[in-house]
Amino acid sequence: MDQFTQPERPAFARWLGGTNDVTHMFLSAGNGPDMINMAGGLPDPSVYPVAELAAIARDAVAKNPRDALNYSPIEGLPALRDAIAARFSDENLTLTRDNVLITTAGLQGLDLLGKVLIDEGGLIAAHSPTYLGAIDAWRARLPAYRPFNPESNAFDAVAALKGAQFAYTVPNFSNPTGRLIDLERRKALVEAAHETGTWLVEDDPYGALYYDGDPLPRLLSLSGAMRPGDTPYSGPVVYMGTLSKELAPGLRIGWLVAAPDLIAALTMAKQGSDMCSSGLTQRVALDAFAARLPERILPNILDLYKTRRDALCAALAEHLAPWFDFEKPVGGMFVWAVARDPSFDTDKLLKAALAEGVCVTPSSVFDVEGRNRRAIRINFTLNSAERLGEGARRLALAAARVAAA
Ligand code: PMP
Repeated sequence: MDQFTQPERPAFARWLGGTNDVTHMFLSAGNGPDMINMAGGLPDPSVYPVAELAAIARDAVAKNPRDALNYSPIEGLPALRDAIAARFSDENLTLTRDNVLITTAGLQGLDLLGKVLIDEGGLIAAHSPTYLGAIDAWRARLPAYRPFNPESNAFDAVAALKGAQFAYTVPNFSNPTGRLIDLERRKALVEAAHETGTWLVEDDPYGALYYDGDPLPRLLSLSGAMRPGDTPYSGPVVYMGTLSKELAPGLRIGWLVAAPDLIAALTMAKQGSDMCSSGLTQRVALDAFAARLPERILPNILDLYKTRRDALCAALAEHLAPWFDFEKPVGGMFVWAVARDPSFDTDKLLKAALAEGVCVTPSSVFDVEGRNRRAIRINFTLNSAERLGEGARRLALAAARVAAA
Protein backbone atom coordinates (compact mmCIF):
# COMPACT_ATOMS: atom_id res chain seq x y z
CA MET A 1 0.00 0.00 0.00
CA ASP A 2 1.18 3.54 -0.71
CA GLN A 3 2.25 5.46 2.34
CA PHE A 4 -0.83 7.05 3.88
CA THR A 5 -0.09 10.76 4.23
CA GLN A 6 -1.89 14.09 3.97
CA PRO A 7 0.80 16.61 3.08
CA GLU A 8 -1.69 19.17 1.81
CA ARG A 9 -3.29 19.62 5.23
CA PRO A 10 -1.91 22.88 6.69
CA ALA A 11 -1.33 21.46 10.18
CA PHE A 12 0.72 18.60 8.65
CA ALA A 13 2.49 20.72 6.05
CA ARG A 14 3.84 23.03 8.75
CA TRP A 15 6.21 20.25 9.83
CA LEU A 16 7.73 19.33 6.47
CA GLY A 17 9.50 21.35 3.80
CA GLY A 18 11.56 24.56 3.95
CA THR A 19 14.00 24.90 6.83
CA ASN A 20 12.53 21.76 8.40
CA ASP A 21 14.22 19.79 5.65
CA VAL A 22 17.55 21.39 6.47
CA THR A 23 16.93 20.43 10.10
CA HIS A 24 16.22 16.83 9.13
CA MET A 25 19.40 16.81 7.08
CA PHE A 26 21.70 17.75 9.94
CA LEU A 27 19.83 15.68 12.51
CA SER A 28 19.96 12.49 10.49
CA ALA A 29 23.25 12.91 8.61
CA GLY A 30 25.40 13.78 11.58
CA ASN A 31 25.85 10.36 13.08
CA GLY A 32 27.85 8.16 10.69
CA PRO A 33 31.00 6.57 12.16
CA ASP A 34 33.39 8.83 10.27
CA MET A 35 31.24 11.94 10.66
CA ILE A 36 32.56 14.62 13.02
CA ASN A 37 29.31 15.91 14.46
CA MET A 38 29.64 19.50 15.63
CA ALA A 39 25.96 20.24 14.91
CA GLY A 40 24.10 19.14 18.04
CA GLY A 41 24.16 20.54 21.55
CA LEU A 42 25.17 17.36 23.33
CA PRO A 43 27.20 16.96 26.51
CA ASP A 44 30.20 14.62 26.44
CA PRO A 45 28.88 11.35 27.93
CA SER A 46 32.15 10.99 29.88
CA VAL A 47 30.92 13.69 32.29
CA TYR A 48 27.93 11.69 33.50
CA PRO A 49 28.51 10.39 37.06
CA VAL A 50 27.38 6.91 36.08
CA ALA A 51 28.17 4.91 39.22
CA GLU A 52 26.66 7.47 41.58
CA LEU A 53 23.53 7.92 39.46
CA ALA A 54 23.11 4.14 39.23
CA ALA A 55 23.24 3.86 43.03
CA ILE A 56 20.82 6.78 43.46
CA ALA A 57 18.39 5.30 40.92
CA ARG A 58 18.49 1.89 42.59
CA ASP A 59 17.81 3.42 45.99
CA ALA A 60 15.05 5.58 44.51
CA VAL A 61 13.11 2.48 43.48
CA ALA A 62 14.03 0.32 46.48
CA LYS A 63 13.59 2.92 49.21
CA ASN A 64 11.03 5.34 47.77
CA PRO A 65 8.81 3.25 45.49
CA ARG A 66 5.81 5.53 46.09
CA ASP A 67 7.62 8.55 44.68
CA ALA A 68 9.50 6.64 42.01
CA LEU A 69 6.80 4.35 40.64
CA ASN A 70 3.45 6.12 41.20
CA TYR A 71 2.02 8.98 39.22
CA SER A 72 3.37 12.02 41.00
CA PRO A 73 1.47 15.28 41.55
CA ILE A 74 1.18 17.19 38.25
CA GLU A 75 3.31 20.03 39.67
CA GLY A 76 6.07 17.62 40.67
CA LEU A 77 7.23 16.03 43.93
CA PRO A 78 6.75 18.63 46.69
CA ALA A 79 10.26 18.10 48.06
CA LEU A 80 11.79 18.66 44.61
CA ARG A 81 9.76 21.86 44.15
CA ASP A 82 11.02 23.02 47.56
CA ALA A 83 14.60 22.23 46.55
CA ILE A 84 14.24 24.33 43.37
CA ALA A 85 12.59 27.19 45.31
CA ALA A 86 15.51 27.16 47.78
CA ARG A 87 18.12 26.94 45.02
CA PHE A 88 16.93 30.10 43.24
CA SER A 89 15.84 32.24 46.20
CA ASP A 90 18.26 34.98 47.28
CA GLU A 91 18.33 38.04 49.53
CA ASN A 92 15.97 39.88 47.15
CA LEU A 93 13.84 37.01 46.01
CA THR A 94 11.58 34.74 48.05
CA LEU A 95 10.34 31.67 46.20
CA THR A 96 8.06 28.98 47.55
CA ARG A 97 6.94 25.71 46.01
CA ASP A 98 3.93 27.59 44.56
CA ASN A 99 6.42 29.30 42.24
CA VAL A 100 7.70 26.00 40.84
CA LEU A 101 6.48 23.52 38.24
CA ILE A 102 8.67 20.48 37.51
CA THR A 103 8.76 19.83 33.76
CA THR A 104 9.89 17.02 31.49
CA ALA A 105 13.12 18.96 30.87
CA GLY A 106 13.42 22.43 29.45
CA LEU A 107 11.68 21.76 26.20
CA GLN A 108 8.39 20.90 27.88
CA GLY A 109 8.53 24.26 29.63
CA LEU A 110 8.65 25.95 26.23
CA ASP A 111 5.79 23.80 24.96
CA LEU A 112 3.59 24.61 27.97
CA LEU A 113 4.32 28.33 27.70
CA GLY A 114 3.19 28.19 24.08
CA LYS A 115 -0.07 26.51 25.09
CA VAL A 116 -0.84 28.90 27.92
CA LEU A 117 0.51 32.24 26.73
CA ILE A 118 0.10 32.37 22.94
CA ASP A 119 -3.31 33.26 21.56
CA GLU A 120 -3.54 31.84 18.04
CA GLY A 121 -1.58 34.16 15.76
CA GLY A 122 -0.35 36.16 18.78
CA LEU A 123 2.92 38.10 18.86
CA ILE A 124 6.11 36.74 20.46
CA ALA A 125 9.10 39.00 20.97
CA ALA A 126 12.13 36.74 20.53
CA HIS A 127 15.85 37.15 21.09
CA SER A 128 17.11 36.66 17.57
CA PRO A 129 18.41 34.35 16.20
CA THR A 130 16.20 32.02 18.21
CA TYR A 131 16.60 28.51 19.63
CA LEU A 132 15.24 26.00 17.13
CA GLY A 133 13.43 23.96 19.81
CA ALA A 134 11.45 27.04 20.85
CA ILE A 135 10.39 27.74 17.27
CA ASP A 136 9.22 24.12 17.01
CA ALA A 137 7.47 24.21 20.39
CA TRP A 138 5.34 27.20 19.31
CA ARG A 139 4.84 26.39 15.63
CA ALA A 140 1.34 24.93 16.04
CA ARG A 141 0.11 28.21 17.61
CA LEU A 142 0.97 30.11 14.40
CA PRO A 143 2.61 32.99 16.25
CA ALA A 144 3.91 36.17 14.68
CA TYR A 145 7.48 37.05 15.72
CA ARG A 146 9.11 40.35 16.51
CA PRO A 147 12.87 39.69 16.66
CA PHE A 148 15.04 41.74 19.00
CA ASN A 149 18.76 41.85 19.48
CA PRO A 150 19.95 42.95 22.93
CA GLU A 151 23.55 43.02 21.68
CA SER A 152 22.85 45.85 19.23
CA ASN A 153 23.60 49.46 20.16
CA ALA A 154 20.12 50.51 19.10
CA PHE A 155 18.39 48.06 21.48
CA ASP A 156 15.24 49.56 23.04
CA ALA A 157 13.82 47.11 25.58
CA VAL A 158 10.40 48.77 25.92
CA ALA A 159 9.89 48.83 22.15
CA ALA A 160 11.01 45.18 21.99
CA LEU A 161 8.53 43.97 24.62
CA LYS A 162 5.51 46.22 24.27
CA GLY A 163 2.36 44.47 23.05
CA ALA A 164 3.95 41.01 22.86
CA GLN A 165 2.35 38.04 24.62
CA PHE A 166 5.78 37.23 26.01
CA ALA A 167 9.42 37.94 25.29
CA TYR A 168 11.82 35.00 24.92
CA THR A 169 15.47 35.34 25.92
CA VAL A 170 18.46 33.10 26.56
CA PRO A 171 20.63 35.54 28.55
CA ASN A 172 23.48 33.07 29.27
CA PHE A 173 25.21 31.85 26.11
CA SER A 174 22.34 32.01 23.73
CA ASN A 175 21.61 29.09 21.49
CA PRO A 176 22.76 29.58 18.70
CA THR A 177 25.12 32.58 19.15
CA GLY A 178 26.79 31.67 22.46
CA ARG A 179 26.61 35.33 23.49
CA LEU A 180 25.79 36.84 26.89
CA ILE A 181 23.28 39.61 27.49
CA ASP A 182 25.28 42.17 29.52
CA LEU A 183 24.16 43.50 32.91
CA GLU A 184 22.88 46.83 31.60
CA ARG A 185 20.67 45.12 29.00
CA ARG A 186 19.46 42.59 31.57
CA LYS A 187 18.29 45.44 33.77
CA ALA A 188 16.68 47.17 30.81
CA LEU A 189 14.76 44.01 29.87
CA VAL A 190 13.51 43.45 33.43
CA GLU A 191 12.48 47.10 33.83
CA ALA A 192 10.68 46.95 30.49
CA ALA A 193 8.83 43.79 31.56
CA HIS A 194 7.63 45.49 34.74
CA GLU A 195 6.66 48.62 32.80
CA THR A 196 4.88 46.97 29.87
CA GLY A 197 3.34 43.99 31.70
CA THR A 198 4.86 41.58 29.17
CA TRP A 199 6.00 38.20 30.52
CA LEU A 200 9.78 37.88 30.19
CA VAL A 201 10.94 34.29 29.63
CA GLU A 202 14.50 33.56 30.81
CA ASP A 203 15.55 30.21 29.31
CA ASP A 204 18.74 29.21 31.13
CA PRO A 205 20.08 25.75 30.29
CA TYR A 206 23.69 27.02 30.10
CA GLY A 207 23.78 29.23 33.23
CA ALA A 208 26.28 26.96 35.03
CA LEU A 209 28.70 26.85 32.08
CA TYR A 210 30.78 30.01 32.60
CA TYR A 211 34.43 29.32 31.63
CA ASP A 212 35.70 32.87 32.28
CA GLY A 213 34.58 35.52 34.75
CA ASP A 214 31.76 35.63 37.28
CA PRO A 215 28.16 34.73 36.38
CA LEU A 216 25.87 37.70 35.74
CA PRO A 217 22.67 37.98 37.80
CA ARG A 218 19.58 36.21 36.54
CA LEU A 219 16.69 38.25 35.18
CA LEU A 220 14.61 36.49 37.87
CA SER A 221 16.86 37.83 40.61
CA LEU A 222 16.86 41.36 39.14
CA SER A 223 13.08 41.25 38.97
CA GLY A 224 12.88 40.07 42.62
CA ALA A 225 14.93 43.11 43.64
CA MET A 226 12.30 45.35 42.01
CA ARG A 227 9.55 43.83 44.19
CA PRO A 228 10.91 43.84 47.75
CA GLY A 229 8.64 42.02 50.16
CA ASP A 230 6.88 40.09 47.39
CA THR A 231 6.30 36.63 48.95
CA PRO A 232 6.01 34.45 47.00
CA TYR A 233 7.49 36.14 43.94
CA SER A 234 4.73 37.27 41.55
CA GLY A 235 6.58 39.37 38.97
CA PRO A 236 6.82 39.05 35.17
CA VAL A 237 9.93 36.85 34.80
CA VAL A 238 9.43 33.19 33.89
CA TYR A 239 12.66 31.33 34.62
CA MET A 240 13.37 27.95 32.98
CA GLY A 241 16.07 25.53 34.05
CA THR A 242 17.04 21.94 33.28
CA LEU A 243 19.37 19.20 34.50
CA SER A 244 20.34 18.40 30.91
CA LYS A 245 23.68 20.23 30.87
CA GLU A 246 24.49 20.06 34.59
CA LEU A 247 23.81 16.37 35.14
CA ALA A 248 22.34 14.28 32.28
CA PRO A 249 19.76 15.05 29.57
CA GLY A 250 18.34 11.51 29.72
CA LEU A 251 16.78 12.28 33.10
CA ARG A 252 14.43 14.74 31.31
CA ILE A 253 14.02 16.91 34.40
CA GLY A 254 13.55 20.67 34.22
CA TRP A 255 11.65 23.38 36.03
CA LEU A 256 9.68 26.55 35.48
CA VAL A 257 9.79 29.29 38.13
CA ALA A 258 7.08 31.95 37.83
CA ALA A 259 4.24 33.79 39.55
CA PRO A 260 1.86 31.32 41.28
CA ASP A 261 -1.11 32.11 38.98
CA LEU A 262 0.93 31.33 35.90
CA ILE A 263 2.24 28.14 37.53
CA ALA A 264 -1.39 27.11 38.20
CA ALA A 265 -2.34 27.60 34.53
CA LEU A 266 0.79 25.80 33.30
CA THR A 267 -0.04 22.93 35.66
CA MET A 268 -3.45 22.50 34.00
CA ALA A 269 -1.73 22.49 30.59
CA LYS A 270 0.78 19.90 31.79
CA GLN A 271 -2.02 17.62 32.88
CA GLY A 272 -3.12 17.38 29.25
CA SER A 273 0.42 16.94 28.06
CA ASP A 274 1.99 14.14 30.13
CA MET A 275 0.10 14.10 33.49
CA CYS A 276 3.38 14.29 35.39
CA SER A 277 7.11 14.06 34.82
CA SER A 278 8.72 10.70 35.58
CA GLY A 279 8.55 10.04 39.32
CA LEU A 280 11.69 7.94 39.06
CA THR A 281 13.85 10.67 37.59
CA GLN A 282 12.28 13.33 39.84
CA ARG A 283 13.29 11.21 42.81
CA VAL A 284 16.78 10.77 41.30
CA ALA A 285 17.03 14.55 40.82
CA LEU A 286 16.00 15.17 44.41
CA ASP A 287 18.56 12.73 45.79
CA ALA A 288 21.23 14.04 43.40
CA PHE A 289 20.61 17.59 44.68
CA ALA A 290 20.79 16.35 48.28
CA ALA A 291 24.15 14.69 47.48
CA ARG A 292 25.30 17.93 45.75
CA LEU A 293 26.09 15.88 42.66
CA PRO A 294 25.71 18.73 40.11
CA GLU A 295 28.05 20.95 42.16
CA ARG A 296 30.60 18.15 42.54
CA ILE A 297 30.83 17.28 38.83
CA LEU A 298 30.79 20.89 37.61
CA PRO A 299 34.55 21.63 37.96
CA ASN A 300 35.35 18.65 35.74
CA ILE A 301 32.73 19.71 33.16
CA LEU A 302 34.08 23.26 33.09
CA ASP A 303 37.71 22.11 32.69
CA LEU A 304 36.85 19.77 29.85
CA TYR A 305 34.63 22.18 27.92
CA LYS A 306 36.95 25.16 28.40
CA THR A 307 39.85 23.21 26.91
CA ARG A 308 37.65 22.20 23.99
CA ARG A 309 36.36 25.73 23.45
CA ASP A 310 39.95 26.96 23.28
CA ALA A 311 40.94 24.15 20.91
CA LEU A 312 38.02 24.83 18.57
CA CYS A 313 38.66 28.58 18.52
CA ALA A 314 42.36 28.04 17.77
CA ALA A 315 41.48 25.62 14.95
CA LEU A 316 38.87 27.96 13.47
CA ALA A 317 41.36 30.85 13.55
CA GLU A 318 43.87 28.64 11.76
CA HIS A 319 41.60 27.11 9.11
CA LEU A 320 38.41 29.11 8.65
CA ALA A 321 39.56 32.74 8.87
CA PRO A 322 39.49 33.39 5.09
CA TRP A 323 35.72 32.91 5.08
CA PHE A 324 34.35 33.35 8.61
CA ASP A 325 34.57 35.70 11.61
CA PHE A 326 33.73 34.52 15.10
CA GLU A 327 34.00 35.58 18.74
CA LYS A 328 35.29 33.31 21.48
CA PRO A 329 32.28 32.65 23.77
CA VAL A 330 32.64 33.15 27.53
CA GLY A 331 30.66 29.96 28.19
CA GLY A 332 28.00 27.58 26.91
CA MET A 333 28.42 25.04 24.16
CA PHE A 334 28.63 26.90 20.85
CA VAL A 335 30.72 29.14 18.63
CA TRP A 336 28.76 31.23 16.14
CA ALA A 337 30.72 31.97 12.97
CA VAL A 338 29.47 34.56 10.46
CA ALA A 339 30.59 34.52 6.82
CA ARG A 340 32.57 37.58 5.76
CA ASP A 341 30.83 37.59 2.40
CA PRO A 342 27.11 38.42 2.97
CA SER A 343 26.14 36.29 -0.03
CA PHE A 344 27.84 33.14 1.33
CA ASP A 345 25.11 30.47 1.73
CA THR A 346 25.53 28.22 4.76
CA ASP A 347 22.69 25.88 3.70
CA LYS A 348 25.00 25.03 0.79
CA LEU A 349 27.93 24.80 3.18
CA LEU A 350 26.07 22.14 5.19
CA LYS A 351 25.76 19.92 2.10
CA ALA A 352 29.45 20.40 1.22
CA ALA A 353 30.46 19.81 4.86
CA LEU A 354 28.54 16.53 5.04
CA ALA A 355 30.42 15.38 1.94
CA GLU A 356 33.71 16.17 3.76
CA GLY A 357 32.60 14.25 6.87
CA VAL A 358 31.76 17.13 9.20
CA CYS A 359 28.39 18.44 10.36
CA VAL A 360 27.52 21.93 11.68
CA THR A 361 24.20 23.75 12.01
CA PRO A 362 23.33 26.43 9.42
CA SER A 363 21.78 29.69 10.62
CA SER A 364 18.59 29.32 8.56
CA VAL A 365 17.08 26.95 11.13
CA PHE A 366 17.36 29.59 13.88
CA ASP A 367 15.53 32.22 11.83
CA VAL A 368 11.74 32.03 12.01
CA GLU A 369 11.60 33.05 8.36
CA GLY A 370 14.53 30.84 7.31
CA ARG A 371 16.26 33.82 5.70
CA ASN A 372 19.57 34.07 7.55
CA ARG A 373 21.97 31.90 5.57
CA ARG A 374 25.19 33.61 6.51
CA ALA A 375 26.26 31.91 9.74
CA ILE A 376 26.90 28.51 11.32
CA ARG A 377 26.67 27.21 14.87
CA ILE A 378 29.55 24.95 15.91
CA ASN A 379 29.39 22.80 19.04
CA PHE A 380 32.58 22.18 21.03
CA THR A 381 31.42 19.99 23.96
CA LEU A 382 31.01 16.58 22.33
CA ASN A 383 34.29 16.00 20.48
CA SER A 384 37.90 15.76 21.66
CA ALA A 385 40.24 18.68 20.92
CA GLU A 386 41.88 16.58 18.22
CA ARG A 387 38.61 15.82 16.45
CA LEU A 388 37.54 19.47 16.71
CA GLY A 389 40.77 20.41 14.94
CA GLU A 390 40.11 17.86 12.21
CA GLY A 391 36.50 19.07 11.96
CA ALA A 392 37.66 22.67 11.43
CA ARG A 393 40.06 21.48 8.71
CA ARG A 394 37.25 19.60 6.91
CA LEU A 395 34.96 22.60 7.28
CA ALA A 396 37.57 24.77 5.59
CA LEU A 397 37.68 22.37 2.61
CA ALA A 398 33.90 22.63 2.33
CA ALA A 399 33.94 26.45 2.68
CA ALA A 400 36.55 26.73 -0.08
CA ARG A 401 34.34 24.61 -2.37
CA VAL A 402 31.22 26.72 -1.67
CA ALA A 403 33.14 30.00 -2.13
CA ALA A 404 34.55 28.79 -5.46
CA ALA A 405 31.20 27.57 -6.86
N1 PMP B 1 16.52 25.91 25.71
C1 PMP B 1 17.66 26.04 25.04
C2 PMP B 1 18.10 27.40 24.62
C3 PMP B 1 18.42 24.91 24.72
O1 PMP B 1 19.55 25.07 24.01
C4 PMP B 1 17.97 23.64 25.14
C5 PMP B 1 18.74 22.38 24.85
N2 PMP B 1 19.46 22.27 23.78
C6 PMP B 1 16.76 23.57 25.84
C7 PMP B 1 16.07 24.72 26.11
C8 PMP B 1 16.11 22.30 26.33
O2 PMP B 1 16.88 21.26 26.70
P1 PMP B 1 16.26 20.07 27.56
O3 PMP B 1 14.88 19.82 27.04
O4 PMP B 1 17.18 18.95 27.35
O5 PMP B 1 16.24 20.57 28.97
